[in-house]
Amino acid sequence: MSQASNDDPWRARYRNIRVLDVLRVTRVTPMMQRVTLGGDEIRGINDAPNIKLVLPPREGAPVWPLKGDNGKPLLPPGRSMPITRTYSLRRLDRDRGELDVDFVMHGEGAASTWAEHARPGDKIGVGGPMGPEVRPADWYLIAGDHTALPAITRILCQLAPDARGSVFIAVPNAAERQQLSIPPGMKLHWLHTEEGDDLERSVRAAPWPEGKKVYAWFAAESTAVRSLRNYVRHERGLGRSEFLAIGYWRRGMSEPEYHEKLDHDRGEDFYEAIRDELQHAHEHH
Ligand SMILES: Cc1cc2nc3c(=O)[nH]c(=O)nc-3n(C[C@H](O)[C@H](O)[C@H](O)COP(=O)(O)OP(=O)(O)OC[C@H]3O[C@@H](n4cnc5c(N)ncnc54)[C@H](O)[C@@H]3O)c2cc1C
Repeated sequence: MSQASNDDPWRARYRNIRVLDVLRVTRVTPMMQRVTLGGDEIRGINDAPNIKLVLPPREGAPVWPLKGDNGKPLLPPGRSMPITRTYSLRRLDRDRGELDVDFVMHGEGAASTWAEHARPGDKIGVGGPMGPEVRPADWYLIAGDHTALPAITRILCQLAPDARGSVFIAVPNAAERQQLSIPPGMKLHWLHTEEGDDLERSVRAAPWPEGKKVYAWFAAESTAVRSLRNYVRHERGLGRSEFLAIGYWRRGMSEPEYHEKLDHDRGEDFYEAIRDELQHAHEHH
């Protein structure tokens, strides 16, 4: 597949938003809708964990903001900023020029409603991909809820074949499980919340790998993520660059409210770890 060229239209857009086409829509499990995106503007796209979706309006022509002064979006007169939401890049296939985004159909919300009604030929804006990857370790502790399943799938595909550790995935029931390819040294625990399983309790109850260099990755509803961050940071003594804990959603708040009020529960650790990483990269170049 050819690389991006200077006259690609996305370069002029706010946050380099690419306008992609819906190629296929697949209901993977009763509550998970997979939307496969492609089209000309996918050329040269980065492979990283998170994407920003820019949703077209339900009626009328979509607005794709351009780059304005001072990094602000430039919008046509009378038009307001479109709705944006954060999702995971579940799979990128550069040769075929397509990527998958898996949406939990949680029953309300702009993004899940868009995905529910998406049809081949529909357009959507995609910013990124961006965001930190898991760091190398002797033992991985990975835990997440249904919304984290796409990201966990991507992580498991990227781990070395001899990776060791535990993965906890909390889905509502057994029908929401997916077939995952997982290194043989990683133990997978499916939890069913409708049967009373609890992510936080299960992670805390698992034996801790004493004496190993651990990396922990958590993504779920805000309350669980806060508690799991405290567990590894304060009860198990992991350093700030030895874990990543991000709230993917918060009960009772839309994503923009959660972002504005609580910044997805990213702690100071998160920013310190990123600063350390940038400093390290600077010193070694
Ligand atoms: C880095 C990152 C990656 C993410 N990746 C994915 C992904 O790959 N797939 C995915 O499905 N989600 C993912 N999420 C979570 C997703 O962004 C949120 O669930 C988001 O709120 C959905 O937007 P919406 O427009 O559907 O609902 P919103 O308008 O944001 O929220 C409307 C209402 O629905 C509630 N709500 C939101 N999500 C859920 C849920 N899952 N279950 C029950 N109630 C909910 C809110 O509390 C609110 O009351 C990710 C989040 C982050 C930060």
